[in-house]
Amino acid sequence: MNVVHECTHALIANRRFRWDGTYANSEAAAYVAGALYVAYSVSALAREMLSDGSLDFLRTQEPFATAWRIALSIKDIKGASVSAADTIGLRAVVVASPTYAKYKVNFGTPVGLRPKSWD
Ligand SMILES: [Zn+2]
Repeated sequence: MNVVHECTHALIANRRFRWDGTYANSEAAAYVAGALYVAYSVSALAREMLSDGSLDFLRTQEPFATAWRIALSIKDIKGASVSAADTIGLRAVVVASPTYAKYKVNFGTPVGLRPKSWD
């Protein structure tokens, strides 16, 4: 899941990939990609366990929880895309997440953000 998440960032960072999104958009895409990987790779029983909400990374304030719900809503639908409402909702969860809030990530933060505290 984490490898797919980071590979999504790498794809977005590729100069030939047309992306003029923000940091929050990049995170949203990476979380959905990781969640889709889990949705397609784990068994039905594991998916049921993931859906019970008791795991830390599935708490509602965690971006993965929102990405997981989105992934399940588009899984197995050919040509599916994430709705604007879901995209905005996931971006809001990313921005509000303590992981990103501590770096002052907001809706307009560019993808290339690299605060000194990350070095
Ligand atoms: Zn990320």
